[in-house]
Order: sequence, then structure tokens, then C-alpha cells
Amino acid sequence: MTDIVGIDLGTTNSLIGIMDSGFPIILADKEGLRLTPSVVHYPASGEPVVGRTAARMRVIAPERTIFSVKRLMGRRPGETDKDTFPFSVAEAQGKVSISVGEKSTTPEEVSSLILRKLKTNAEQGLGRSVDRAVITVPAYFNDLQRQATKRAGEMAGFAVERIINEPTAAALAYGLDRLKDRSKIAVYDLGGGTFDISILELNEGVFRVLSTNGNTRLGGDDIDRELVRLLEERITARHPEIRNDLKTAALLAQLRELAHDAKLRLSEEPAVQIDIPFLPGNRRFGYLLARRELEALARPIIRRTRSHCLRSMDDAKLSPHDLDEVILVGGVTRMPLVRQFVAEIFQRLPNTSQNPDEAVAVGATIQAGILSGDIQSIVLLDVTPLSLGIETFGGLMNVIIPRNSTIPCKAGEMFTNAVANQKSMWIKVLQGERELAKDNWELGSFEIEFARVPKGVARVGVQFEIDANGILHVLARDTSTGRERVLDLTSAVDVSDETVEKMIAESLDHAFDDMAERVWTETAIKSNELLPAVKSALTLVGDQLTDRNREEIERLVSAVTEALESKDIQKLKAANAALDEGTQHLATLLIDRAMAEAEKRRAQRPPPTGSR
Ligand code: AMP
Repeated sequence: MTDIVGIDLGTTNSLIGIMDSGFPIILADKEGLRLTPSVVHYPASGEPVVGRTAARMRVIAPERTIFSVKRLMGRRPGETDKDTFPFSVAEAQGKVSISVGEKSTTPEEVSSLILRKLKTNAEQGLGRSVDRAVITVPAYFNDLQRQATKRAGEMAGFAVERIINEPTAAALAYGLDRLKDRSKIAVYDLGGGTFDISILELNEGVFRVLSTNGNTRLGGDDIDRELVRLLEERITARHPEIRNDLKTAALLAQLRELAHDAKLRLSEEPAVQIDIPFLPGNRRFGYLLARRELEALARPIIRRTRSHCLRSMDDAKLSPHDLDEVILVGGVTRMPLVRQFVAEIFQRLPNTSQNPDEAVAVGATIQAGILSGDIQSIVLLDVTPLSLGIETFGGLMNVIIPRNSTIPCKAGEMFTNAVANQKSMWIKVLQGERELAKDNWELGSFEIEFARVPKGVARVGVQFEIDANGILHVLARDTSTGRERVLDLTSAVDVSDETVEKMIAESLDHAFDDMAERVWTETAIKSNELLPAVKSALTLVGDQLTDRNREEIERLVSAVTEALESKDIQKLKAANAALDEGTQHLATLLIDRAMAEAEKRRAQRPPPTGSR
């Protein structure tokens, strides 16, 4: 039996598994249950309670009971849906924290309590300690979110051996390594709070992720919210006098519980009876909710997954008939409506052979088996969901690792100084698909120093490395001194996850404008290099030109200056080209002068002395 456990740290539920004689098994708790609700309750006194007991407290003490904390992991102020939680989420001093009574905690700490609970459950079941783990995250988690997850694992007492993407884990769980080579698989994962679509290819026993897409704020929780709203409407229609009472936290939490329960049952039954026996003033409420009513509410939410699926297929350069399998992951995919919808998009019936709630945890466990050497025939490769690069002169995005690159990966480029006597360079690390740096997200920045040198002489190598956990390490090295700096991303990540999806859509919407802006900026940079160079050449060797040639160059210089002001790209390109062409002779004179000077210096140098 291996020492490494596989963990699905879910928005709604979490699971833990271990390889047992070559088989992945999901471990049950003392009550024999394998799903641990990702809920933590903080009583007024005493230790926090985690899991099922905590989940029951959501109704009784909603303001002291933390759920869906995954939605807050690695988030920065301004990026949370804080008003959708019944507990208090604070955004201050660059941090997101959760207040429970007097106490303040962090999403990482809450997640670490969930992980610790899983660890205890596993250890009790196995009768020995487990200290190493593989933990899954949504494919769309950015660096900060992955690091926050890793830290939560460490706080819970695990050595986190690998952070892997959930859809990739699921493909393993479905046993897709048994498919024929070159099989293409779509993994449709709709969970409590996240949607992921991934297209994988199996090739000689190796899984490769061809593309990923998704939305970190789309899932079953949205359906629950709509259903709660519907119930509120129905109750107020019947009892308008208790409209305000419905806003109390306890009643809202109760409605949420009822709505959730009804949603689950409606995946199996055509209609369910909802009863609330004790509304304020001794009123009661009963309602027969039909599946089609739930479906009417859920349809717009589920429909939002469509554009992601199409984009992912597009990125993988595939059409539905190229796919060999479509697999379902996440509790919401038990809904008949979701299955129909997936069948329509991919023009085939999805494979439902696995338990969609457990597939990710089973896959994480198989990955743990791979890492510990128990399983050797499969290797996993993931891809980067968004491009990574740095800002270069003129505010442009210089991509170093393009979107959908297979990870782990490493890439680098050499940069130089744009200005004479510059003695340092700011390395601004960006993530996104837009041409201009300002439209992408800044993950962090740092300064690398070098000796004062003329323009274009510094040589700074910048290397990006994404490790097997999907975490980015940025290294900058000045080649002349060997001085280097490594970016500490944890303190500087500034990514709004909410807009991951928006980012890709915007890059498509603005593709033409962005490209025009990039071409303009690059052309203007060229003009701004040409103009001072011509000016200094005229000072040095201008007297060797004929008057006509000199006037012609001055006319071409004015044309470039005018074109720069006109903002007309065609005019500027033509003016640059004409100035380039018109200064050929001037350039030759300059080179001749430099060579003559070098010759003179050589002649003046004393002869070398011998060694004896
Ligand atoms: P996960 O994040 O994969 O644990 O998925 C949890 C989400 O799936 C929650 O929104 C659950 O309400 C939802 N879910 C679980 N089982 C069902 C079911 N039988 N029918 C509909 N939704 C479900």
C-alpha cells in the first residue's frame, strides 16, 4: 500500500483515497460515508467542527458556518462574491478573510481544516499515519489559487507531492488509458462552484491535455440560488405578510437546504413535494415542485457552459465527430438536463459509467499511485490555460509561454535595455491573451539591476518555468554579472479569476484593434529609434553629404515626425521605410568613420610586450 493519498478538495464535498493492492479506493469516515461536506462550523466556544456535523449547522448558525470556501481560495479583495455568503467575508489590507464572531480566519486555514479532517478520517480507517498527498484543483485555477491550495495542504500536515487538474484526474478514473491510441476525450466537469471542459488525447499510454476552458464561478450553487429565489417568490405569493422574515439568515439557510435536497431528488423523480411546517406566525407552506420547473431555472446556467465547450474544441482543432469519448464529472452532471445538453453539444451520448462525484478523487489516487511507483504505465501532462509573458518597451505583451503549452515546461528569452545609461530593468510578469500589457493581468513584478551601459548593450535572460504543479517560477539573470532574481509570486499575484473566461472572449473581440495597436506601437518604436540615430549621424558625418542629399534626409525626417503625430499607421510605415532607404549613404559614411577611428586607435597602441 502506498503512502500517498489522493484528495479531491471540492467546493461542496471533499474526498480522500489511497491505492490498495493496485486499486484506488475512496476511504470512508467512521459513519461509513465517503463524501465529506467542505463545510466548517465555528462554535461560540471550543474547536471548529468539520464535515457533516458542520453542514447541519448551516441551518442553525449560518453566520458561523463556512461553506464553498474554495470560491475564496487565492482571491484578492474585489474578486469575491462576498455578498452571496451568509457569513462575513472581509476584504482589507490586500487580503480576504472570514470573520466568525470575534475570530478572523482565512480561506486557506478553513481549507486546511477540511484537509485535516480528511487526513484524520483516512488515518483512523487505515490505522496508520498518512503524510503525503496529491490534491486536485480546477484547470482554471491560477498560480495564486494553486499555491493557496498547496499551502492549505501543508498547514494540514501533508507534504503536497502534486497539484493536478481535476479533469485530468477524472480521465484516469474513467480508465481511459484502456482506449486505443490517439483517442480524443472530452471531460465535462460541472461541480458545485466550478465548470471545466478539457480535451485530452491518449497517445502511447500518455495523456496529453490538448486544451482546457471553463469558468471558476459556474456550478450547482447557482442553480440552488435560483431555486431559493423561486421558493421565496412562491412563499411570499401565499404569505405576503412574512416577506421580510424570509430574509433572516436561519430561514434562508433552511430554504437553501430544502432547495438543494429537492434539486438532488429531481434528478431521479419527475416531481418532489417541498414542505415547510413552521414558518413565522405558525404558518406552513407546501409546494409540489416539478422537474421541468427546475429545468427552466437551470437551463440558462447550463447553457453558459456551451461557449466554453466550443472554444475548447476550437483550441484543440477538433470537431465533435473527432471525439472518442465524452465523460461526465461533478455532481450536477447527474441532472438529466445536463446529460441531454452535453449530448447535443458533442453529438454523442456521454459516458456515465463512473460515479461523477468520485471520479476526481479516484483519479487523484491513481496519480498518487503513479508518483509512488505503484502504477508506471501512465504519465500525465497538463496545459497552461492562459499565456504568460512580460511587458516590453512600449507597453506590449511579450509572450514567453503561450496558452495551452504542455506543462511542466520552461522557456526563456533575452532582453536588452531600451534607454542609454539604464541601470536596471523592471520585469513585469503578465498573464493573458491581449496584445497590450495593460489589458493583461499583472502577476507580479521585480527589478533586476545591471551596470550602466549604452542602449541595447545589457543582456538580461528571463526564464519562465511552470512546474508539475502548475506553479510559475520566474528567473531573471544579468548575463554580465551573473546576478539573478527570482519572482516571489505569492506576494504579488494580481489576477481576477472571474475574468479568465472574459479574458479569452475579450482577446477575440478586440483582436483587430489590439493587433492594430501593437503594429502601431512597434512602428512608432522604430521611428523613435531612427530619428535620434539619424540626428546624431548628421552631426557626425553630415558635412560629407551633398546639400541635396542633406535636404532630402531632413525632408524624410519631418515626414516621419508628421506621420507620428497623424497616428496613421500606413503613413508611418511608409515614412520609416523612406527614411531607412534615404539614409543608406549616411549609414555607409558612419561605418567608414567608425572603421577609420578603429584603425587610428590600433596604430596608436604600443606594441604588445612579450612574456619574457
Ligand atoms: P461536486 O463539486 O462535484 O461535489 O458537485 C457538487 C454539486 O453537484 C452540488 O451543486 C450538488 O448540489 C450537485 N449535485 C450532487 N448530486 C446531484 C444530483 N443527484 N442532481 C443534481 N445535482 C447534484
